[in-house]
Amino acid sequence: MSPQPEASSLVELEGVCKSFRRGDEVLPVLEGLSLRVRRGEFFALMGPSGSGKSTLLHLIAGLDRPDAGVIRVGGIEITALSETELTAWRARSVGFVFQFYHLIPVLTALENVELPLLLTGLDRRRRRAHAEVALELVGLSDRRDHTPARLSGGQQQRVAIARALVTDPPLVVADEPTGDLDRVAAGEILDLLERLSARWGKTILLVTHDPRAARRAHTVRVLDKGALIDARETLDPECR
Ligand code: ADP
Ligand code: MG
Repeated sequence: MSPQPEASSLVELEGVCKSFRRGDEVLPVLEGLSLRVRRGEFFALMGPSGSGKSTLLHLIAGLDRPDAGVIRVGGIEITALSETELTAWRARSVGFVFQFYHLIPVLTALENVELPLLLTGLDRRRRRAHAEVALELVGLSDRRDHTPARLSGGQQQRVAIARALVTDPPLVVADEPTGDLDRVAAGEILDLLERLSARWGKTILLVTHDPRAARRAHTVRVLDKGALIDARETLDPECR
């Protein structure tokens, strides 16, 4: 039998280029970047501020499009999809977690988690049931009726993770999710992300400055000057 090294990749990028225009100037951010992330992998992306980490996440999550190159997720070439197809793909295939949670302040924890399901054909009773399962998964069933203002930062981030999971996407992308949290709360978020990969087989793409995240992730890569470099060249040995 011939080996199939690509069979287990969830995310594949080939020759991805992205630049932004600022007035007359063109700012190249990603320059021919290639990358593979395995199914179920906990993948951490580090790198200096402004190196294009968020840009890369947005491209993989189908929130933006590259200038050149191919992006495949779950075997689907998302760079070839129309806007409508891409929107539908995103709703079922990827969950987002942001640094500042982005919860809706007037909604309860449960209602926030239920939000992505409004884009699906599920009836109200099923939406509630799925949202309850997701909240339970992040250990916040007892806070279901609290609004975000009554939750700590760490709890708000766990609600945001439940919201990212509620559609059961294979891929979760998290852009500096512990950046605004204290050490203990950050550790809990990392525990949770690790568990999503280990126990639930989710592929986790984490952008982080936290060297502790690097120790838990299966793979750590550093984005610098438009290209990915091996983290071992730059990380302090203690962080490995
Ligand atoms: P990081 O997340 O690593 O800090 P970003 O991906 O946010 O980096 O940004 C990379 C570079 O691209 C930065 O110089 C940033 O100013 C620029 N950039 C990002 N998004 C845009 C945009 N929509 N328009 C113009 N420039 C942008
Ligand atoms: Mg960023």
